[in-house]
Amino acid sequence: MSIIQHDGKFLMPQLAYGANELSPVISGETFEYHYGKHLQAYVNNLNAALPGSGFENSTLEDIVKKSDGGIFNNAGQVLNHTLYFQQFKAPSEGNAPTGKIAAAIDNAFGSFDKFKAEFEAKGVSLFGSGWVWLSADANGKLVITQNKNADNPVTANLRPLLTFDVWEHAYYIDYRNARAAHLKALWSIIDWKVIEERF
Ligand code: MN
Repeated sequence: MSIIQHDGKFLMPQLAYGANELSPVISGETFEYHYGKHLQAYVNNLNAALPGSGFENSTLEDIVKKSDGGIFNNAGQVLNHTLYFQQFKAPSEGNAPTGKIAAAIDNAFGSFDKFKAEFEAKGVSLFGSGWVWLSADANGKLVITQNKNADNPVTANLRPLLTFDVWEHAYYIDYRNARAAHLKALWSIIDWKVIEERF
């Protein structure tokens, strides 16, 4: 089952929070541009590219796995941003994973703090535009990957769980060039229940 159903047209992902609820980590202005303009454009471009593409009845994940060129770029960005925006909730102090996902993180990375440090470092060192991901492989083992531009871990047969967007449009209004500060702030708005459900 795809994370977004469609009937010839993909829709914008539904979110459980309002435009200003992620503030000050992600301001209402950044949200309006990132969700309302950037993501909307990717959805519109994907829908415009579907007729005659052979992907009219494909799931979003299948399009990302099998396409290339413009349709891949737009489908990838719709999938990436859907997983990104649906993983957030209002900021809370000491926000951390619990249960199965917490145990898997400890197993794979030693501790939640070590995981966060490695994840942030991979986000900071990704040159240019792209995404840093936490994914599960076929055996349920957790891995961190850097994916450039519109790429998504499903292209490597991984199951994406958590992501930070390091395209400049994700943070430039609020943080200017301070990508590292933006990534550090994101931990307080991750909805770990959503991540555990994906796991
Ligand atoms: Mn983005």
